[in-house]
Amino acid sequence: MTPLERALRDRILSEGPMTVEAFMAACNDYYYATRDPLGASGDFTTAPEISQMFGELVGACLADCWARAGKSPDAIYVELGPGRGTLVSDALRVMRSAGFDPAVHFVETSPVLREAQAAAVPGASWHDEIASLPEAPTLLVANEFLDALPVRQFVQGVERKVTVAAGGLAFDRDGEIVETSPAREDAVSQIAKRLGACGGVALIIDYGHPKSASGDTLQAMHAHNFSPVLDRPGEQDLTAHVDFEAVAKAARVAGASVTPLAPQGQWLERLGISARAQALSKTHPERAGEIESARARLCEPDQMGTLFKAMAIHSPNWPAPLGFE
Ligand code: SAH
Repeated sequence: MTPLERALRDRILSEGPMTVEAFMAACNDYYYATRDPLGASGDFTTAPEISQMFGELVGACLADCWARAGKSPDAIYVELGPGRGTLVSDALRVMRSAGFDPAVHFVETSPVLREAQAAAVPGASWHDEIASLPEAPTLLVANEFLDALPVRQFVQGVERKVTVAAGGLAFDRDGEIVETSPAREDAVSQIAKRLGACGGVALIIDYGHPKSASGDTLQAMHAHNFSPVLDRPGEQDLTAHVDFEAVAKAARVAGASVTPLAPQGQWLERLGISARAQALSKTHPERAGEIESARARLCEPDQMGTLFKAMAIHSPNWPAPLGFE
């Protein structure tokens, strides 16, 4: 039994079954606080860890917005859940060469990952929550952040809970599931209000669906394999598909403009990933095969190209980022 499972069993025995939302929040808090989950030796790999091209194109996209919005000298770069700091390192290289050298602010709760981020970006500032970010024109990135925020699940209108069963933990009911995520909507609404008040854009990249629909999307990854959600609490990554219709609605209600949703592959192609791959292969001919397979992994429909999607939220008086239409 994992240490967290023991704690959750005690909690359920004294307080009664806990909601899926509380279970997911407790598991992920413990999980991220105690490890670096990324890469071959971890549980999962993300786009910036696959290739430098991902962060570079994000950096180029943001630098272009910043330039078209008038090159504000006070603009800051914000990243939510920056992992190892790989995306920001690649993005900063490109932004700086475009004349944009922003102060860097991270929203990150994991002490282990904060350490990796400090090594990647000396001089960055950290925040526990979006609310404590400084008020300045903001260029924000959230890659695979919203999928880690907790979801509520309902079966025929009744909230689904986790209870103690003979061999471990069990769900108290099954059936057709409807998911909502107040935590995500709250995060998006805070971002949108900030962009409205201070100016700026936010790029949200994650896996998920374009329209709200019923279905159980909660999943666990352990050592790069899917695993039952209730196994090994706190020792595997729990995520749920992002409902981009709900994200767009939360942003609009908070007064922001929202771009169309783009499949990740199409978005990266429009930003020029093929040209970037060719240029990299020219300077590193010995790595040409590796570069092409990274491009394919990020862009091809049978890999990350379609399941992953990108959407931008921007203040109504800032231009929409490139790549969405
Ligand atoms: N964006 C990175 C890492 C994705 S993993 C990449 O693409 O590689 C999810 C990230 O979100 C981790 O950095 C994790 O520590 C952070 N995170 C998860 N839940 C969080 C929360 N509630 N508040 C702040 N950060 C959180």
